[in-house]
Formats: sequence, structure tokens, C-alpha cells
Amino acid sequence: MERQEARDLVRNMKGFKQSELEACLLCDKGMAHSQDLDFYRVTLERFMIDYGAVQRQAGLETSMGAAAGLAQIMGPDEDLAKLPSPQPSFLVCGKCAMDKKLPLPRISERLATRDEEG
Ligand SMILES: [Zn+2]
Repeated sequence: MERQEARDLVRNMKGFKQSELEACLLCDKGMAHSQDLDFYRVTLERFMIDYGAVQRQAGLETSMGAAAGLAQIMGPDEDLAKLPSPQPSFLVCGKCAMDKKLPLPRISERLATRDEEG
């Protein structure tokens, strides 16, 4: 896509205010520093496993002769994991978003540091 095409396309999209801008979680630079056309707002959903529910489901599967599909239909369909709230949201610049070495532990570490600093 040509830059002029992209500019025309951007004019008709949902807006993002300057007050919503923050530094990239991974490189601490602004969203336009690398002249990329885009950046990302990421909401990280970190689920906590409910091992009691997992064990109950596994027990039901075992009692039905390891028929996981049947146990799922016949069982209480419990949540096997829970989503604590609130879920953190952060911005990632276009350059960092294309980094194939983007590790989840690094994101989690940066989020923890950001939350400590307020
Ligand atoms: Zn970045």
C-alpha cells in the first residue's frame, strides 16, 4: 500500500487521541519513532488454571472410558481456567510488533515494572 493510500484510508478509521498515547512497552519509544504505518494496543489475557475443575473433568473422562468428547457433553462443562481482572492493556510500536524474538516473559516483566512504577 502506498503511503498516500494509507493516509486516505486512515482518515476514515476510528480515532485514537493523543491522550491515549503512551510509550511502547518494549522499547520505551513513541509510536511513530520508526515511521511505521501502524502500532498495536494489546490486551494480555492471563488465565489461571482451576486444577480442581481439571481433575473433576479428567475423572469424568476416565469413568467414561477416556471419551473426552462424551465427557464434555455429559459433564457440567465447568470453566477449566479463570480470567482475573482487570486485564492489562499496553501499546507496542510497529517495529517491536514485527520482532520475531518478542518473548512473552519479557512482556510480563515489562508490565510488572510498569505497574510498580504506577
Ligand atoms: Zn517498540
